[in-house]
This record gives sequence, C-alpha cells and structure tokens, in this order.
Amino acid sequence: MAYLILARKYRPQTFEEVYAQDHITKILKNTIEMDRTAQAYLFTGPRGVGKTSLARIFAKSLNCLNDGPTTSPCNVCQNCTEITHGNSSDVIEIDGASNTGVEDIRDLQKELMYAPSNSRNKIYIIDEVHMLSKNAFNALLKTLEEPPENVVFIFATTEPHKVIPTIISRCQRFDFKRIPIPAIIDRLSSICKIDEISIDPEALFAIAKKADGSMRDALSLMDQVLAYGKDYISLVDVLSIFGIVHTDIFYKILLFIIEKNASDIIKLLHDILEKGNDIQEFLNGMLDYIRNLLLLNLEIDIPTISDANRKQMLEISDKFEDNDLIYIMSILIKTKMDIKSSSNPILIAEMAFIKISRLAELQSLDKLIDTIKKGKPVQIESTKPKPIHIHSILNKKDVVQQQETTVMHDKTEEVKAEIHKEAEQEKPKIDKLTIEAVEENLNDIAKVLSKQKPIVANYFVKCQIRNLSNNFLHLASANSLAFDMLKDEKELISDIFSKHFNLKIKVDFTLEEVKINKVITNPTLDDIKRESPTIAEFIEDTDSIIN
Ligand SMILES: [Zn+2]
Repeated sequence: MAYLILARKYRPQTFEEVYAQDHITKILKNTIEMDRTAQAYLFTGPRGVGKTSLARIFAKSLNCLNDGPTTSPCNVCQNCTEITHGNSSDVIEIDGASNTGVEDIRDLQKELMYAPSNSRNKIYIIDEVHMLSKNAFNALLKTLEEPPENVVFIFATTEPHKVIPTIISRCQRFDFKRIPIPAIIDRLSSICKIDEISIDPEALFAIAKKADGSMRDALSLMDQVLAYGKDYISLVDVLSIFGIVHTDIFYKILLFIIEKNASDIIKLLHDILEKGNDIQEFLNGMLDYIRNLLLLNLEIDIPTISDANRKQMLEISDKFEDNDLIYIMSILIKTKMDIKSSSNPILIAEMAFIKISRLAELQSLDKLIDTIKKGKPVQIESTKPKPIHIHSILNKKDVVQQQETTVMHDKTEEVKAEIHKEAEQEKPKIDKLTIEAVEENLNDIAKVLSKQKPIVANYFVKCQIRNLSNNFLHLASANSLAFDMLKDEKELISDIFSKHFNLKIKVDFTLEEVKINKVITNPTLDDIKRESPTIAEFIEDTDSIIN
C-alpha cells in the first residue's frame, strides 16, 4: 500500500478532532442543535488551520444519513464517506483559485436548480473565494440574494480583505486562529503514539514551531522527517533536515557579545554558513531568539519556546537591558534588508556582528545622545584614552640628555655626587618633576615595571597625565579594569618613579574618560562624526528607526 501522507491520514473527521478552534465548533454545533443553519458561512484564517476540514465535517453533520442533522456525524454512512472522499454529488467543492471566471459561477447557478439527490442539503464549499473575478463575485452575489432552499454556502479564504463587503455581509463569519504550539505538539504526539514513531519531545517542539500555526504544515513536516526512516528521531535530526540553527548558537553569540569577543562571533558565523545554513534563516533565528529574550525580560509569557530553552535564556537575560536587545534587533533587521540587495551578504553579516559586539561601548553613550538631542552644550568625550606614543618618546631622548647636562652644573656637592652616580646608570637627574620629564621617561619606567608586573605596565603606558604638582603625579585611566590594577600597584609605581628620578615622587591614578578639550554648542551631526564616528553612526541608526 502506498504511503498515505499524514495530513490526509489524520484529517479531522469530527468536531472534536479540530484543534484550537473551539470558539467556532461550539457555535456551529449549536446552530445544528437549534436547527438554525445559516445560508452562507465565511471561514477565514491562515492556511492549514482546519477551514476546509471543518467545512466538510459541518456538511456531514447536515447530511449524515444516521440521525442527521447531528453534531456527531457517523462517518460510515454513504453520505459521510462520500463527503470524506470528496465525491458526494450534493457537497460540491470548488477551488476559487482555478475557477475564477463568471462562467464557472454561471455553471454553479444552473447546477443550483437541481434539488439534492440523496441528501437534505446541497452544500457548496468554495475554497480561496477571494480569487474569484469581479464578475464572478457579482454573479455569486445574485445567488446569495435569492438562495434556493436547502442550499448552504461555505466560503473559505486566507485573505478576507479581498472579498467584497457585500458578500461578507451576507455570511456568518468565523475567524480561525493559528494553532498554538502546544496544540500541535499534542496532535503530533498522539499520531506518534498511534503510528509507533519514536521521537525526542524537543524534536516535536521544533517541528511544531516551524509549522508556524498550521497543523497541515506540521503534518507535512513530520512526513519529511519520517522519510529519513530513522528508528529514533532526535532534535539534531530535525534541525539538520530543516536547516534550523540550534538555539545554543544564539546563546553562545550572546555570551560573546557580553565578552566583547567579536572574533569568536565571526568564527561561529563562518562555521554556521559553511554547514550550509541559509544566512537569512540564521538571522531570523537570531532575531526570534532575542525577541524572546526581550519578552522574557518583560515577563511576558512565550509559548513558542521550550522549557529547556527558557532555562538557558534565563541564565543570560539579566545581562542585557531591554534597550540593548532592541538595539541588537534593529541591527539584525537592517542587516536582513541590506543583505537582500548585496552581492556580498557574508561581509554585511560580519560587519553587523562586529557592530553588535561593541554594544558595551555604546551603552554609556545613551546619556550623551540624550543631551545632544536636547541641544544642550555638550562636552564630547572620546571613549578611549589617548595613548602616549612610545616612539615619539624615544625620539626625544637626545634632547633630554642635553637638559640633564645643563641642570648638573648648579648642584651642591652632595647632589653632584648623586648626579655622578645617576649619570653612571644613565638616569636623568632633576630636582623637580616636570610633565616633559615624565613623558620622556615613561617608557623606561614602564620597562622597570614590566619586569615585576607586565600586565600593569601595559596599562600604565596607556595612561594620560592628568595633573602634576609638587612631585605628586596624577595619571588617568579610562579603563576600569586597568584602573583597579594600577591603583593596587601605586606604591610600587611611586617607588619606581622615585628611584628613577631620585626624588620623592608620589603617583596616584584616577578613573576617567579622557576629555578632548573642546566644548561644542549645539553640535551638528558632522561635529559629532568628526569627534566620534561610533556615536554618529548610532544616532543615525536610531534616528532612522525612530523617525
Ligand atoms: Zn453519516
């Protein structure tokens, strides 16, 4: 026997088997019980949610030879079985998509003259009714104005806005809902039980999710999975069959964003694409994941994620502010659009993820952007300190030695002796620390420091001189981690300075963003662009979204 596709094998045959449309089945059953059948019905809703199935069940209810009209048609009498197989002469199914012309409706009108042959009612089920031509609609309208007795029309459409209002107003309208994931899983599980299919519940969830509210799609996806002939169907099987990216990948990407680790995000992206995943599908998956994370943060119930997923998301949800998530989503949406018109989609995706990985830098800019938008005078701050260039320090070495020579002549005997000692060690000798001296000698001091604390030394050379008075040197670091480490070693660093210059020198550190000494009144976007391209880009991005 040929394989019977699941959608056909398990097509609902009773009101009870129609999933998630209780609001409709309840009313239809009532009208049967109260013998108040309307002349025309309009079933609207997305594809695969049970519109035609319910139309057939309703037809059986009206025409069943056992106790009909009944809310539980027998499904065994001649009328019921003929309707099930679509060959009842009194239940006529017309596909609006292929019978769009006025001639088709004229044929229908002629046909209407004949009384039902073996049933109480003549029932016309017109699927995709919105596809009918204008003339066909008008002909149909005439029929609806003076319908023959015992004729029932059931129109079905996925696009009710394309059906003319005069038709809609003559119908009793029922709006079908998309079928929720739990209902699809419920149905799939019961089918798996009957057909002895062994499958991971997470795999069922993935199928139900991909079906996107359509039971028919869920069943045909299940057919595709079964075609692989595996004894046990795992989540990985389902993901690879449909090219769905595992949510673990999105979780990892978010971890990398927290770590500002752009390179590992790019590696992951390449890996996914090398495995043959579609880039748009990947971006859709990522968008979906972040959207769910946002909903989770807002404490909105999300039926579209599995329990395992929810648990994983809760681990990172508090690491992101709502605004962060909206920002990431806006970049992903823009990327999706940019990719469509690009010959190099991978490059565009890479750029987007590098941008997203800089999220932490942008966070602190919120306030700044706010102020700029309000048009207040703003002190533009760069996000990174200006490093002291070691190369330029080295080039000034000669000048320093000249200065040393002149200073040496004016010293007391005691100091002269020390100077002699210092000179032997090729060290500078001054009686008061100057900013120039600090700059010239920073590299040497860093070298000494790096013997004991190499990482601290690395941060040390990136500091900016903030203030110097009475041999008390203030250095500024814009990096909080660096600042903490430097602060811990300030005694050591003071000591190295003191020894180097043979002066009592105290060094301390401050944490601050390094200011460019320029106050701009009502800055233009060009001003901001010049000062900080990142901020400007962010303002442009948010503007295009907001306005
Ligand atoms: Zn029957």
